[in-house]
Amino acid sequence: MTFSVHGLAVARGIAIGRAVLMASSRVDVAHYFIEPERIEAEIERVRLGRNAVVDELHRLQTTISLMGPKEAPHELSALLDVHLMLLQDEELITGVKHWITDRLYNAEWALTTQLEVLSRQFDDMEDDYLRGRKADLEQVAERILRYMKGVGSPTAPPTSGKRKTQQDLLLDDSMDVPLVMIAHDLSPADMLQFKQSVFAGFVTDVGGRNSHTAIVARSMDIPAVVGARSASHLVRQDDWIVIDGDAGVMIVDPSPIILAEYGFKQRQGELERGRLSRLRHTPAVTMDGQKVELLANIELPEDAPAAVKAGAVGVGLFRSEFLFMGRRGHLPDEEEQYHAYRRAVEGMEGLPVTIRTIDVGADKPLDDSVRDEAHLNPALGLRAIRWSLADPAMFLTQLRAILRAAAHGQVNMLIPMLAHASEIRQTLSLVDFARAELDNRGVAYGPIKLGAMIEIPAAALTLKIFLKYFDFLSIGTNDLIQYTLAIDRADESVAHLYDPLHPAVLRLVAETIAECNAQGKGVSVCGEMAGDTSLTRLLLGLGLRSFSMHPAQILAVKQEVLRADTARLVPWAKQVLDAEDPATVLAG
Ligand code: PEP
Ligand code: MG
Repeated sequence: MTFSVHGLAVARGIAIGRAVLMASSRVDVAHYFIEPERIEAEIERVRLGRNAVVDELHRLQTTISLMGPKEAPHELSALLDVHLMLLQDEELITGVKHWITDRLYNAEWALTTQLEVLSRQFDDMEDDYLRGRKADLEQVAERILRYMKGVGSPTAPPTSGKRKTQQDLLLDDSMDVPLVMIAHDLSPADMLQFKQSVFAGFVTDVGGRNSHTAIVARSMDIPAVVGARSASHLVRQDDWIVIDGDAGVMIVDPSPIILAEYGFKQRQGELERGRLSRLRHTPAVTMDGQKVELLANIELPEDAPAAVKAGAVGVGLFRSEFLFMGRRGHLPDEEEQYHAYRRAVEGMEGLPVTIRTIDVGADKPLDDSVRDEAHLNPALGLRAIRWSLADPAMFLTQLRAILRAAAHGQVNMLIPMLAHASEIRQTLSLVDFARAELDNRGVAYGPIKLGAMIEIPAAALTLKIFLKYFDFLSIGTNDLIQYTLAIDRADESVAHLYDPLHPAVLRLVAETIAECNAQGKGVSVCGEMAGDTSLTRLLLGLGLRSFSMHPAQILAVKQEVLRADTARLVPWAKQVLDAEDPATVLAG
């Protein structure tokens, strides 16, 4: 039966494919594709985990049999019998083997996927007692997962070069169709792992339009919907799914007519992209001759070639924290970071690269296992520069690596989430200290321009201080909106209030641009507003000439720039700015 689920549109386009359901688990589970050579080893890891749990339960049974009925009631022994029986269940074992062998899931992912399949069978059972056994099944699977976590920890996820093998294998396996990922939640680190993978689209139950998970989905340029509430409960493994990333809708089990309609839309989208690609080498200049700089936001050095290909004239935001995520405590050292930054610089073929220092915390935990649950308001807590200043050794390592990469090309350094003059002064003295350390070691480094992100209202309201210390500013509208309006950018339940066009947000953006222009300092917008074509004319009218966005959005924004006449946009932008309801003026 066809039905649809509505969520928030985060990445445009249409995807049609079979559902891969990523089950949520109380135990932290890594999800990645394995190399075909590892199939046997992964099956063995699950087997060892299961055997260990069977042994543990047998030992418990023996202990219980030595106790009296008071200390060890009969129910306890019966429960252990049930758990042992579930552990021997053929469907659990063959299912796990199937996901490893045919889909190349790592062992933990295969186990949680099969657990989800079986849980749903339990849900459908009429008998109350049998339905209640679902909880037991979850418990045994969690025991196995915990055991597997302790020993034989997962191998490193595959790199981009291995993509072809996985894809070929998946497509050979009677699955000659694209796959789409449906999950309750995906962390930015999970998304990063899927960046090079085979998925044609994503849907998650939770998340806001500008959550970091959504941002990574957008950077992958594949259709995605977040905040689709119960999507992961309504979909079953291998269901046919249409994801409409423009409308924010997922259609499950589409009828042939619906499929044909979306197939048509998909082809239209491809034609439009083909048409836009002709603008790649056209300079971004408005009708009245204003030059506009269109830069790329990247997450990994490997994203640089796509940025060049999309016609970016540099990187305006390299979110360096993605190098630090999912590392299970082993953060990259100076050498590894230096090589990563250098790869990005060289990948940009002489174009400038703005590297933002680490911005972890809030919805970007370093590891899923250390999600910031200890703090009630992580977005207001130890995040970004606050994190760096709290750990100067870690920060200095990064500063040295960035300075060294600057010997290989034009590098700018961007500092996130500054609000206080004292933080600015501390940061600058650490940059000087990092230079002195490199001098002492006799290591080469290059000159950098230093910039600050304006993403806290306090920063936007004290621009003079920022302009005194920094060479350029970059407006992080994603956080600026979050902190101005007190709306959690990752929370779908308040997503309708997350409004880039709120007069307060517009005023902070407009004043930052105007002040920088007046002082002849560089200013750009690197939040999602920069890549939103419905806002290009407004930002141009406010005086912005530098936009940084996902490479996939550059050509569409360039098209807007080419059609714009800034002389006419200036008075209109002023009207939008002064309006009680700017969206109405913008639309009119
Ligand atoms: C922003 O806040 O607008 C920004 C670009 O930084 P991030 O989205 O990584 O927080
Ligand atoms: Mg930010």
